Amino acid sequence: MDHVIVVGAGLGGIRSVEALRSRGYEGRITLLGQERHRPYDRPPLSKAVLLGDSDSSFVDTDLAALNVDFRPGVVAKGLREGIVETTEGELAFDGLVIATGSEPITLPGDGQQHVLRTLDDAHELRARLVSGAHVAIIGAGWIGAEVATAARRAGCEVTVIEAASAPLTHALGAELGARTVPWYEGIDLRLDTMVSEVVEGGVDLVGGGFVQAHVVVVGIGARPALEWLAGADLDLHNGVVTDEHLRASMPGVVAVGDCANWWSRRYGTRLRVEHWDTALNSPDTAAATLLGEDAVYDPVPYFWSEQFGHMVQYAGYHPAGTKTVRREGTSWSTVWLDDADRIVAVVAVDRPRDLVQGRRLIAADAVLDVDRLVDPDVALRDC
Ligand code: FAD
Repeated sequence: MDHVIVVGAGLGGIRSVEALRSRGYEGRITLLGQERHRPYDRPPLSKAVLLGDSDSSFVDTDLAALNVDFRPGVVAKGLREGIVETTEGELAFDGLVIATGSEPITLPGDGQQHVLRTLDDAHELRARLVSGAHVAIIGAGWIGAEVATAARRAGCEVTVIEAASAPLTHALGAELGARTVPWYEGIDLRLDTMVSEVVEGGVDLVGGGFVQAHVVVVGIGARPALEWLAGADLDLHNGVVTDEHLRASMPGVVAVGDCANWWSRRYGTRLRVEHWDTALNSPDTAAATLLGEDAVYDPVPYFWSEQFGHMVQYAGYHPAGTKTVRREGTSWSTVWLDDADRIVAVVAVDRPRDLVQGRRLIAADAVLDVDRLVDPDVALRDC
């Protein structure tokens, strides 16, 4: 292989470059990035950067030592076998990593909508979070909760509008999500409420009603950034469809991070996980696959969120309807068990030990004793 193109210069993109080099690939690498920044981490955008504790979150990497031709501001426009079409002409490749991540979904309407995906978004929004400003946040998911945390800290009047009956319903289910409602003290939290459109000066609600706001932030989810692949002869369905080696349907092409929809051997289903750990770790498998090695990506998915002074961590994967067992103490966690009492997922709130131990137990397919599990004083690894 002489030339690998990596499209997307986020975490998944730069980790792909690093993985290729650390596995001994010495040919050319071109890294295309739509943004004009060098690669940076996104989790701090809704935390330290939005809170004003930090201005940036650049990935600690040495582009010169990696001998990569990094092209900021160059966008991939199309793909056919062996060729990427870009805003600066066509580039031939014999290996391609698709690492274009995801992009925020927005709402109808002519009013200004802030999203939080890029470093520029974070700086723009931070400048608007000033004391006394009325901020309407649409969506009480991970991003919405973290933006609400920062907005309250900045002294804003905050309204959070959520279509479901509880925050975090999509990720954790309504029952667990409802446990975070008390965290919204001092915030006008409107559940079971839908926005019809964002207009000048606020948002219109479905069924009538208007929420006045100086700043409207939309955090209702993201979709894989794959428009540039629309005409390509590539299997796309909720992301780039890959096998367990992260190999896409076109020869010499792999996908990583938010945009990869891979076959999970562990769970016997397809997974697309829009979280940092996937962007960090999937590139090693993708690089190995491009280099003809036999590597399988089969993680226990993991993510975290910092909101309202709490650390929420989740590991695993649980289909709807999976049995749960709660561990209640001053902090709490919940474990999902399959029909054979095998642990398949865990969420821990301010209980990092349960998360770490739970993640290992999930990887080991451990069967747990429910009677011991309900006792929060028994370590998870001893259940
Ligand atoms: P991205 O980071 O989206 O990078 C893709 C890059 O490709 C982008 O720079 C994009 O501009 C570029 N690109 C797209 N299309 C093209 C094209 N056609 N040509 C060239 N370049 C292109 N996860 C957690 O686990 N915990 C957290 O606390 C957490 N917090 C987050 C907070 C925020 C505000 C955001 C936005 C995400 C957060 N995440 C968190 C998720 C995590 O950051 C993502 O899963 C991760 O960034 C995905 O990395 P990626 O490289 O796959 O994609």
